[in-house]
Amino acid sequence: MAELNDKFVSMVTATAHVDLRLSDFQPRSCLSLDEHTVLTSRFPAIDYHNHLDSTDPREVLAIMDRCGVEHVVNITMQVGQAALDMMDRFHKAAPGRFSSIGWMDWSGAGRSDFAAVTIERLKRMVDHGACGIKFWKDLGLTLRNSDGKLLRIDDERFAPIFAACGELGLPVMFHTADPTAFFDPIDQFNERYEELAAHPDWSFHGSPVSKRELLEQRNRVIARHPEVTFVGAHCAECSEDLRFLAQQLDALPNLQVDISARTPELGRQPYSTREFFLKYSDRILFGTDLLPDDNMYRLYFRFLETADEYFEYPSHASRQGRWNIYGIFLPDDVLRKVYRENALKLMPHLR
Ligand SMILES: [Zn+2]
Repeated sequence: MAELNDKFVSMVTATAHVDLRLSDFQPRSCLSLDEHTVLTSRFPAIDYHNHLDSTDPREVLAIMDRCGVEHVVNITMQVGQAALDMMDRFHKAAPGRFSSIGWMDWSGAGRSDFAAVTIERLKRMVDHGACGIKFWKDLGLTLRNSDGKLLRIDDERFAPIFAACGELGLPVMFHTADPTAFFDPIDQFNERYEELAAHPDWSFHGSPVSKRELLEQRNRVIARHPEVTFVGAHCAECSEDLRFLAQQLDALPNLQVDISARTPELGRQPYSTREFFLKYSDRILFGTDLLPDDNMYRLYFRFLETADEYFEYPSHASRQGRWNIYGIFLPDDVLRKVYRENALKLMPHLR
């Protein structure tokens, strides 16, 4: 008996120190599971968050038609005249299939009349059909005053800009902060180690402002401007903590979120995510933030529509982390809202 126990103990306690390069470790799942490829979204979809500046509108249209994507919002990363030209290019290529969100232009941010200059820029974008303006993570993390201090998102000097967005009926998209792992050290405990190795410039470890503080600055602006609809890109950068995201949605009725680039997080906590989608179905927008591609769209649809288990998530080349995702099999009424109806509320020009 003692001998048997010893064998058992040595079996269950054995470990090995493995010297296999992480990049060479490419395990293949042994699971045998049902797979449902969703060729077209169950309802016409609006991709509310994408960047098409580098693409040919005709090629994108062909992908959209194959996948059931009715409309794509191009968040142009151009500013000035180039942004206006980009908007014209897409709107003319296929009226009714493309819309545009402008990119906040920080040139001249040190000027005393910067708010007025910005409001003029916004009006010009609206004249060219813009249906929103995006504030990127550079606000809060890298943009600086002339005195060298970081610009704060809730800087009172920008209040007239947000007020003008309210008057113009222009939704404001905030991509504030970044994934939580990007604020952690790049070491063996970082679950996004390989991604950060490929993009060391994505790391904000050591930033003087914490992620939480950035979100609080952003939320102060949202609370200050109840007349403006704000879209928190990438699940308002809280996809790792859906309870905290829910608290923010409860506290800020003028906040919507898009799910772009966050299926890796959402799909690895499918029970919490499904509950979240059912409860906040009026506040969630479909968006991808990845170059249009048939397989990319179909992975999003598979995540939203099926109960498939343990499949790859749509991603940029370096992936986000070494895990797979699970579908959340949303009911039709929720899918309709997430794919299309919630976005239409922010896009009166399409109604
Ligand atoms: Zn984006």
